[in-house]
Amino acid sequence: MKRSIDPTAHFPADYRQARESFLAAAESAGARVTSHVLDVRGADGCELAIDTAALGPAIPDSLLVVSSGIHGAEGRAGSALQHLLLTQPEAAGFLPPEMGLLLVHALNPWGFDMGRRVNEHNVDLNRNFLRHPEEHEIRPDYERLKVHLNPTHMDEEHDALARQAFTAFAREHGGARLQQALSAGQHAHPKGTQYGGHEAEPSNQLLRKIAREGMCGVSRAAWIDVHTGLGPHGVPELITELPPSDPIYRRGRAWYGDAFRSAASGESVSASLSGVIEVGLCEEADPACELTPFTAEFGTYPPERVFWALRADNWLQHHGDRASARGQAVHSELQEVFSPRDPGWQSAVLEAGARVVRQAREGLIQDGP
Ligand SMILES: [Zn+2]
Repeated sequence: MKRSIDPTAHFPADYRQARESFLAAAESAGARVTSHVLDVRGADGCELAIDTAALGPAIPDSLLVVSSGIHGAEGRAGSALQHLLLTQPEAAGFLPPEMGLLLVHALNPWGFDMGRRVNEHNVDLNRNFLRHPEEHEIRPDYERLKVHLNPTHMDEEHDALARQAFTAFAREHGGARLQQALSAGQHAHPKGTQYGGHEAEPSNQLLRKIAREGMCGVSRAAWIDVHTGLGPHGVPELITELPPSDPIYRRGRAWYGDAFRSAASGESVSASLSGVIEVGLCEEADPACELTPFTAEFGTYPPERVFWALRADNWLQHHGDRASARGQAVHSELQEVFSPRDPGWQSAVLEAGARVVRQAREGLIQDGP
């Protein structure tokens, strides 16, 4: 009988341990390592960096990329998968000689370290990849619900009012439009949830540089950006923002069948979002490179639970006290909804993650000359 992957060997307790394990595993694997240090420091003064590890030819014909932690609190699963790929490369199939592997660790190291989904400027980095301010959309639905999304007081009375407002909105406009209002991103309220920023954030600029240099001269690339939160417990969905008419969607379908879904067409667990990483990657890829970028989203808990945890975390950051018992409970719940402590979930994510990487590897080989 095939033994399942032991998650304790790969899942880090926190950012510091994740970074140390990633760098040590990269060195043992003989990878070329680059560290992009951010200006901001961690909670205990520790250095925060986006680290990369590259294996295979300096300019490979095809390239497999796995990035982690663009949403900081979601960083453990992606970091664990990257550690698995470095320490047990057979789990996702060995690379053919002309293929490279690039691992981009902790795109949002501040959020990973603090246990927040957003970065040091309260920005959701996966809503930051657009032209500022020309492409900032006005979000009337968010405006209508913003008081309930971003309460200054959190108690039973305010929670009940918020629940009523969301229920009434869903009754009037449908659940899909409610999800859109709650998650699509906004640029008007820097202290609000889903804030996409007013300029390209440092991590955005660093990622663009990493993508540009990493994909230079490459004919075909698959870029898997690991997320957690939406969907059935431990099950991945592969998501693109592009419509089914796009060649990227068609390649994704050929590689993954109906596990590959378009947020634009409404078939995904995710609403249609603006300013996602995929946009930046497509802009930075060499025009001659056939790039297939997508999100690998691993489900955790029901979306309502994830949403209430995010709302509470944003309240805590701007109006609460992190050191209080309540603050610690809010923090702990946010960690749980994005990185469940259950070893069964962790093991399922690593098994499924290795499968996703293996299928991308096979897709790149099949699409080759
Ligand atoms: Zn995410």
